[in-house]
Amino acid sequence: MAKILVINCGSSSLKYEVYEMPERKSLGKGLVERIGEGVGVISQESAKGRYGEETPIPDHRRAMELVRKALTDGKAGIVASMDEIAAAGHRVVHGGEFYAESVVIDEKVLEVVDKCSELAPLHNPPNITGIREAVNLLGKKPQVAVFDTAFHQSLPPAAYLYGIPRELYDKYRIRRYGFHGTSHRYVAAEVLNMLGRSEGNTCLVSCHLGNGASVTAVKHGKSVDTSMGFTPLEGLVMGTRSGDVDPAVLLFLMKRGYDEAKLDKLLNKQSGMLGLSGVSNDMRDIEKAAAEGNKDAREALDVYAYRIRKYIGAYAANLPRTDAVVFTGGIGQNSVSTRAKICEGLEGIGIFLDRDRNEAVGRKAGIISADYSPTAIAVVITNEELQIAIDTYSLAFK
Ligand code: AMP
Repeated sequence: MAKILVINCGSSSLKYEVYEMPERKSLGKGLVERIGEGVGVISQESAKGRYGEETPIPDHRRAMELVRKALTDGKAGIVASMDEIAAAGHRVVHGGEFYAESVVIDEKVLEVVDKCSELAPLHNPPNITGIREAVNLLGKKPQVAVFDTAFHQSLPPAAYLYGIPRELYDKYRIRRYGFHGTSHRYVAAEVLNMLGRSEGNTCLVSCHLGNGASVTAVKHGKSVDTSMGFTPLEGLVMGTRSGDVDPAVLLFLMKRGYDEAKLDKLLNKQSGMLGLSGVSNDMRDIEKAAAEGNKDAREALDVYAYRIRKYIGAYAANLPRTDAVVFTGGIGQNSVSTRAKICEGLEGIGIFLDRDRNEAVGRKAGIISADYSPTAIAVVITNEELQIAIDTYSLAFK
């Protein structure tokens, strides 16, 4: 038995969870918010109770100290002392073309992750900070990096090359990387258990629909295409990201005074469901507005479902067969009506939803396709933290 600390470190927040492995049991989790923003806050919950503190958190070192304090708190702590933590696993956003799997971290790995910061300037630097602070906290105990991009390193060139001059790939490594890999990998394994199928005999389309969203084609356990690209901006219409647009739209706007910062904000923060509906980036608000007759909200939902359907169709066309379509993420797991809307019109390619089952499964995991559907449709509750714990345990102790 080993207790694994899972860490997801962002620029102003740090999420953590402790798992007992190999039991896959969560012992508790917490969140540090507003790091470097004056007064910050740590909140933690476990079977023993809740722990919370508001205090200045000027940097990640202080954040990690607070994590130690919360984890070992006499009343609501998760462990008696940090000695009980056997290893740490870290979410790292970008591993470029260097990592196709999770890896035990050493200085060389940190150098490579740092090199990949060019590709993920907002994410990799705080990931590195989180690793360094965890080393500071846990000394020589093993630390493992689990990359969002790694699962998609199996894409063939046909799927990862863009139709732009080859020299841009050679010089800058501009290509499709894909993200959400840890989630797609987790749900792809879970759905096999659910359906009683083996990896070598199964092809899937996995739809991770959260505030960020992507669809991945998985053939015999390997990602063969995915909708996010060089950055997470490509593909589906997301909470605030545009997803696919004609690149010439950017040229058009540049001629009208939009500079890089403005375009970045427009496409990443002001577009997607927020931009289309004018209501919110939260699916619940948009569904409510549409039900009350808001036309823009209704059309936003139409665009949302249409784009996902288009990707499912495109991936089904490139798989030998599609054994299952999987829904996960905040929207995929919770929005019964969005799942129904997406599946409307997929019958032509053998994907038949059972509406009653969809309602009955609701926010749980389960099968929602009709018995006669050639392709199963499943809802799976994703758990990226658990996948990180699984990888960490297997790399550090087996
Ligand atoms: P995630 O990024 O996976 O945490 O997902 C966040 C998204 O899930 C937000 O857009 C939420 O609106 C959406 N969501 C959560 N619960 C529901 C629900 N009951 N119905 C519709 N959308 C939901």
